[in-house]
Amino acid sequence: MWCSFLHEGVFSSSLSRIRVIRDDLIGMDYPVVCKHCVDAPCIRACKANALYKDTGGFTKLDKAKCIKCGECVNACPYGAVFQNPFDKTPLICDLCDGKPICVSKCPTNALSIHPATEIPVKNPAQLGKRYSVALSEYRVLLERWGIRVKYE
Ligand code: SF4
Ligand code: SF4
Repeated sequence: MWCSFLHEGVFSSSLSRIRVIRDDLIGMDYPVVCKHCVDAPCIRACKANALYKDTGGFTKLDKAKCIKCGECVNACPYGAVFQNPFDKTPLICDLCDGKPICVSKCPTNALSIHPATEIPVKNPAQLGKRYSVALSEYRVLLERWGIRVKYE
C-alpha cells in the first residue's frame, strides 16, 4: 500500500511494485519484487530502450520511451513486472532510490534488504512441521533462481 502511495499517490495494491503472491504448489504466500538482475532479461526484451540500469545498478524505467508493449512482463523470470491496470505502464520496483518504503513501513519488520545472491531464511528445523515443509520448498525455489539461502 505504501509503495503505491509513494509512486502513484493512492493506496492500491494493484498499483504496487511489490505484491504478495499465493503459491499453492508450495503452500506459501511470499512477496515478489524486482531483484535488479545484473544481466536483466527485461532490459534485453525492451525494444524501445525504455528500461536501463542507473549508476547504482538499479533497473529503471524511462516512462517517456515506453510503448507499453508488455514484453518486459513476459521476460521477467520472477514475475516481478506488474502492469498498471489503467494505462498498462509497467510497474517495476525502483528500490525508492535505495530507501524502500516497503521496508521502512513494514509493521512487523518482515522486510529487509540483502544482496540478491544471498537471503537469510529461518531454519525450518526450529519451526513446526507445517512451516518446515513450506520453507524447504521455498529454499528449493530460491536456489533455482540462483539465490543462496543462509539459515538464520
Ligand atoms: S524486472 Fe525481473 S528481469 Fe528485470 S531486473 Fe527485475 S527481476 Fe530482473
Ligand atoms: S512495456 Fe515499456 S518498458 Fe516494457 S518492454 Fe515494452 S516498451 Fe519496454
